[in-house]
Amino acid sequence: MIEPRRILIIEDSMLMRNLLTGLLDSAGYGDVHTAATLEQGFTALGLRGQTGEQYNLILMDKLLPDGDGIEAIRQIREHAHLSEKPIIMVTGLEDRETLRQAFDAGATDFINKSFSETELLARVRSALRLDAAIEASKAREADLRRLTRELEKLSYTDGLTKITNRRGFDAALERIWNECLDAKMPISLMMLDVDHFKKYNDSLGHQQGDECLKIIASTLEQSVNSNNETHMVARYGGEEFAAIFRADNHKAQYIAEKLRLSIEKLELPHPTSSSGQHVSISVGIATMQPNTQNNSTQLISNADHALYQAKNTGRNRVVVSVLEIV
Ligand SMILES: [Mg+2]
Repeated sequence: MIEPRRILIIEDSMLMRNLLTGLLDSAGYGDVHTAATLEQGFTALGLRGQTGEQYNLILMDKLLPDGDGIEAIRQIREHAHLSEKPIIMVTGLEDRETLRQAFDAGATDFINKSFSETELLARVRSALRLDAAIEASKAREADLRRLTRELEKLSYTDGLTKITNRRGFDAALERIWNECLDAKMPISLMMLDVDHFKKYNDSLGHQQGDECLKIIASTLEQSVNSNNETHMVARYGGEEFAAIFRADNHKAQYIAEKLRLSIEKLELPHPTSSSGQHVSISVGIATMQPNTQNNSTQLISNADHALYQAKNTGRNRVVVSVLEIV
């Protein structure tokens, strides 16, 4: 049983067309199409601006009323979707020069018009096998590309909270920093930390601690993503989160304050916190204008410093870094 394969014969002699079609048909290749001129052939292949059909094999005559078959092969090969399609040149001419030219132009195989049925079918079979192998390899490549994309996405996602992880954060910060450098725009970084999280874990257990981190992550994502100035949020590590903004420190502060309040309003009980009865967060913000003299490491360090100040001045607050390296 032959798998349905579509074959296109470009041949001006009706006798030859009928002979080829008849032989292929009786061998089980039912999906055979013919073109009597190059123009018809190119139209069938979709090279004339309209959508063409997909063929698995082309049989190409050398001498056609509107052009030369070898030149036609060269033109077909210029189209990406046909660059590897098997083309068998069928001709009465059999001199070495014609052969060389046909293969140079990209013909896959060559058959003389005085072929035997056995020879024709053997060559067609092997050309179709080649096409199937090429298609299978392309499908495998596409699968691999998809898999690579999925893996990449997975490697940038935090397993617990499902937001971007530290690795994704590092890559995004570099990218956004450079975009802001080019656009001469300020970049702000918000670092936040759950207050007394170790005590929370110690008193309520790690499972509850994980649940708390998930809630913080989704609240962070909601309040930050509702603002279109925002670029991304991430779990920086442990109970620490980060958000990058293409905005100045006033806007970043506004969003941070809103976020701090949303966490407060959740009223998640924290039995052992020394700064309140509920789970709260401390936030540090730093803003920089990227230029050729500074870098994103300074931005992280400034935001970290502001976060440290928020912790040291009572927690559950937002501190904006006064350090600004311009
Ligand atoms: Mg001809």
